[in-house]
Amino acid sequence: MSNVETEPAELRCGTAVEESRSAEGARVEVLSAREVPLGGPRAMRVRRTLPQRARTLIGAWCFADHYGPGEVAATGGMNVPPHPHTGLQTVSWLFRGEIEHRDTLGTHALVRPGEMNLMTGGHGIAHSEVSTPDTTVLHGVQLWVALPERHRNADRDFQHHVPEPVRVDGAEVRVFLGSLAGSTSPVRSFTPLLGAEITVEARGEVTFSVDPAFEHGLLVDSGDVRLADTLLRPAELGYVPRGAGNLTLANESDAPARTVLLGGPPFEEEIVMWWNFIGRSHDDIVKAREAWEASSDRFGVIEGFPGGRLPAPALPNAVITPRRNPPRG
Ligand code: MN
Repeated sequence: MSNVETEPAELRCGTAVEESRSAEGARVEVLSAREVPLGGPRAMRVRRTLPQRARTLIGAWCFADHYGPGEVAATGGMNVPPHPHTGLQTVSWLFRGEIEHRDTLGTHALVRPGEMNLMTGGHGIAHSEVSTPDTTVLHGVQLWVALPERHRNADRDFQHHVPEPVRVDGAEVRVFLGSLAGSTSPVRSFTPLLGAEITVEARGEVTFSVDPAFEHGLLVDSGDVRLADTLLRPAELGYVPRGAGNLTLANESDAPARTVLLGGPPFEEEIVMWWNFIGRSHDDIVKAREAWEASSDRFGVIEGFPGGRLPAPALPNAVITPRRNPPRG
C-alpha cells in the first residue's frame, strides 16, 4: 500500500527509552484511528493508527492501516499503482478478499487471507497492489516495519508465509512474525518482532506470555476486547509499554473478536518518514524522491502493470521538526 496523502508530513521519529515496569502495572494507552483516503475519486478509506501524534512506533512497527470490511462495488477496492519504498518492510495481511501484488524483483503474487506477504524495500523497491476482479469485499491490514541502520539499505526481498492456526484455550492464533503461544514464524526480520492474528471466542478470555523487553500494540478488528483493564473497541490500537510479562485479552462481545497483536523492543533510532520512504535525514528523503521521479534503477521496473505509476508528492517547504514518542514516566 502507498501513503497517498497529497501533502504527507515529514516526520522525524524516535523512541524515548522508558523504565521497565511490572506486569501488574501494565498501563494501556488507547490510540484511535484517523480515516485516510487511499486516493482516487471513489477513494477507499483506511483507518490509520500508526504513525500518529501520540505514538510513532511500536517496536519497529511504524505504520498501521486497517481497512474494511468494505464492498468493493462501493469503495472501488484497492488500486494502488507502482510506487516506491525505502528503509522499510511492508507486511500485507488480509481477513477477506484478494490483492494482486507485482514488484520490481519480478514477484507476481496474490495476497490472500491468512497468508503473510512481507516485502523488503531496503535500498529501494517498487510495487503495485490491486484487489482482484473476483474480490467483492476487502478487509485487512497493511503494516510497515522500519529497518535498523545496519540493514536499511538491504537488498529487495519478498517472503510469503502461511502460518498454521494454533488453538489455545479461548482463542485461535496465527503467528506471522516472531513467537506467541508456542508458535514461531520462520520468517526472518531485522529486529525482533511479533505479529499475530488472534481471534478470541465470544465472551472468551485468554492470557499470553510475552517478552517483557517488548512493547506491544493490540489492534482490534471486531468485537469489544478488554486488554488488561482497558476496553478497546473496533479500530482502536491499545499500546502496552515494555515490562509486561503477560497480556490478557477478554472478549466482551457475543461474537468472536478478531485482533492483531504487534510487538518488538522499542526502536531507539531516530528516523525520518515521508510519503513511502524512511531515511535518517531530510537528504535521504530528497535523494529517494529524486531517484523515483527520474525512474532510476534504484527502484527498478514493474513488468505487467497496466497503467502508469504514482508520482511523488512535492516535498514540504517547512523545516522538519523532530518528532518523538512522548516520554513515559
Ligand atoms: Mn506500498
